[in-house]
Amino acid sequence: MTALSDAQRMEKIVSLCKRRGFIFQSSEIYGGLNGLWDYGPLGVELKRNLKNCWWRVMVHERNDVVGMDGSILMNRAVWKASGHEDTFVDPMIDCRSCKSRLRADQVFEKKGAKQCPICGSKDLTEPRAFNLMFKTHVGATEDEASITYLRPETAQAIFVQFKNVLEVSRKKLPFGIAQIGKAFRNEINPRNFTFRSREFEQMELEYFCRPEQGMELLEYWKDERLKFYGNIGIPRSKLHVLTVPDEERAFYSKGTYDIEYEFPFGRQELEGVAYRTDYDLSQHQKASGKSLEYFDEETKQKFIPHVVEPSAGVDRTVLALICEAYSEDQAPDEKGNMETRIVLRFHPRVAPIKCAVLPLLKNKEPLVAKAKEIVDLLRPHMYIFYDESGAIGRRYRRQDEIGTPFAITVDFETLGEKDPALRDTVTLRDRDSMKQERIRISELTHLLLTRIA
Ligand code: ATP
Repeated sequence: MTALSDAQRMEKIVSLCKRRGFIFQSSEIYGGLNGLWDYGPLGVELKRNLKNCWWRVMVHERNDVVGMDGSILMNRAVWKASGHEDTFVDPMIDCRSCKSRLRADQVFEKKGAKQCPICGSKDLTEPRAFNLMFKTHVGATEDEASITYLRPETAQAIFVQFKNVLEVSRKKLPFGIAQIGKAFRNEINPRNFTFRSREFEQMELEYFCRPEQGMELLEYWKDERLKFYGNIGIPRSKLHVLTVPDEERAFYSKGTYDIEYEFPFGRQELEGVAYRTDYDLSQHQKASGKSLEYFDEETKQKFIPHVVEPSAGVDRTVLALICEAYSEDQAPDEKGNMETRIVLRFHPRVAPIKCAVLPLLKNKEPLVAKAKEIVDLLRPHMYIFYDESGAIGRRYRRQDEIGTPFAITVDFETLGEKDPALRDTVTLRDRDSMKQERIRISELTHLLLTRIA
């Protein structure tokens, strides 16, 4: 078998995503809308599993983090104070020949002149600021006073609720507030499938601390976040930590790392970990006139906390999980001939379906009844898929292709027809090794729960 090129690999991934119901183009029957995607039945499971893993590790397993869920629309004053209204802009260049709008950093010079990367024309405008926020109006009148924006990041809701959350949670520094939610950016060139979308989800933690703890916590959170990716099946060897150079960092940040993943289309950012100093809280305190200070009971000092922010993209991580999981190998078909098998080797923790339950034959009532009993036994603990149609090998392949790590087959031995000692045992097949083991039904729940934990 010849190795796939990166472009071929990406093409196969996009087509599998559609064919098996992970990701569809938004509004597809109307020709779609650029940069917008819908998650199908399997995609939504993968995404929820990822978000649940993040929430468990970042909130439930810690004493120093609480969660919140802010609104998408906020008072316009938030976006003025945060700087987004004035500075959340990309410089853009228009091509007068082909009418493309291009990000200035994607237009390169050739022989001393800037050239359109699409049509090659040199008839380009000067760079102009383009605000990435989607503008909308709240209420019945569409005037200047009713303007606000769809949030371009979830973080600002955390900053403006800092005081409320601090009071109700009675936390002491350092402590964090976590949030998962939608964000919207009118990206100029949405591309690379879901990688750069106009609507996406973020998983953000704002970890508040004393000024002197900032740099140390920046290192701590970078390391914690690298560990997280390892625990969901993205190996350290495919991740890279980019230290964002001084001139590219936001002026208020004292240090920023980008965690990048080797996508088939290149090394690209999955998450930013930034030490944002006290910039955000200070801005909101100034603009709102409300104190956002922290009172230290021990030293009797009042100050604005500093913050370290690990900010990850749900959609980019889902895409990384799919790219990492995609593989092709050789496996025997029904007649023993070798064929190419597509397998999504998801970590069981994030796999959309944990286990398939398959009666060997669909027209043998006792097999079907037993299989359905097993479904009822496992369903309270994990997402199970029941499938009785088609040859067993074909059913295994269908599960391999969507990354189901385990398959249980109910056969005549389960009924005790050949050997009474095997009554109430089933075969448990492993997706990656394709090995099968004989397991007692009474042991299945415990065994599977251990393997998917
Ligand atoms: P980029 O440089 O790729 O535009 P960014 O540095 O502007 O990203 P941040 O503002 O740091 O991104 O946002 C934090 C995270 O949100 C990113 O690491 C990414 O995972 C996710 N994200 C940002 N923009 C998009 C987008 N257009 N589509 C999907 N995810 C995004």
